[in-house]
Amino acid sequence: MRYQTGTGTGKSSILLIYTGGTIGMKLDRTDQTLKPFDFRQILEEVPELGKFAYRIDSYTFDDIIDSSDVEPSLWQRLTTLISSRYDSYDGFVILHGTDTMAYSASALSFMIEGLTKPVVFTGSQLPVGTPRTDGKENLISAVEIAAAKDRDGHAIVPEVCIFFGNSLMRGNRTKKVNSETFRAFRSENCPLLAEAGINIRYSTGNIIRPADWDTKPVFHTALDTRVSILKIHPGITPQVVRNIICGPETRAVILETYGAGNAPSKQWFIDLVKEGIAMGKIILNVTQCLAGSVNMEIYATGKRLREAGVLSGYDCTTEGALAKLFHLMGMSEDNRFVAEELDKNLRGEITK
Ligand code: ASP
Repeated sequence: MRYQTGTGTGKSSILLIYTGGTIGMKLDRTDQTLKPFDFRQILEEVPELGKFAYRIDSYTFDDIIDSSDVEPSLWQRLTTLISSRYDSYDGFVILHGTDTMAYSASALSFMIEGLTKPVVFTGSQLPVGTPRTDGKENLISAVEIAAAKDRDGHAIVPEVCIFFGNSLMRGNRTKKVNSETFRAFRSENCPLLAEAGINIRYSTGNIIRPADWDTKPVFHTALDTRVSILKIHPGITPQVVRNIICGPETRAVILETYGAGNAPSKQWFIDLVKEGIAMGKIILNVTQCLAGSVNMEIYATGKRLREAGVLSGYDCTTEGALAKLFHLMGMSEDNRFVAEELDKNLRGEITK
């Protein structure tokens, strides 16, 4: 790990944490491949950052990774890092690959409870060193958002969020939806927290504020990762469903269902769901749709799932549901506790 103290001074101080991803890559002209650049040169790469009257320190993990290699241990390291530096900074910006950014932002939203400062994830589709990069704008705006305070000196966005393509989104509501355009993320079930144009326009009514600004957050690092995701599709077989739902390694299964939470009405399917629940598994229903919510009351196919004991994930994203389960199961071995908490809106991840 490399910790670098920045040169700027001023009212706000930001810790810029670099985990990897396209944004921090630079074209190595000798072999024409993308390589991570040394983050100590961040001001050389993005001199615009020097124009802010903020102190910007940077922190680089030793293992700079493509975010396809992200593991829950990275979330634990990020949470521990933010916890240990919490009092020294006004905000945190995490540079991260786009592929799993929605998972990481969801995870941190649950792992930090009672946040009073911004934790802004960003990245880019093109490396920061390339001429048409989206990385500079994303980074510069993310830093500005992380430093923004209201008249009382409180953070304007004390949430874990993602800034990308001019939009600020709640982290646990986002999904990567495009692998090519600069608007790579969407947050269909939750309005934007801010939009960057000539000015950054904050939608303060959409932003969650802490109950108490003076209480330090609780940092949770325990995670139980015994979760599988079962995406329902035409042609799915009893063998596949059995392996996933009744497998000894799973404590919880996220069922990615059709539309408003519907799954095949075939008896074998319902029987396997019931068998899993009888084994003590948690089965959580989220929709495959990009927008909208599970409602297991509308169709007979959804109703049978509810009657079998499947829990509603409401309008949670799969990424958010996975992170919520990891976190809640890490807190307790008691599945009744997990089921009760799943039904609550803990960090703005569901509309309830
Ligand atoms: N594969 C890269 C990553 O997620 C893509 C990106 O950064 O945009 O790390």
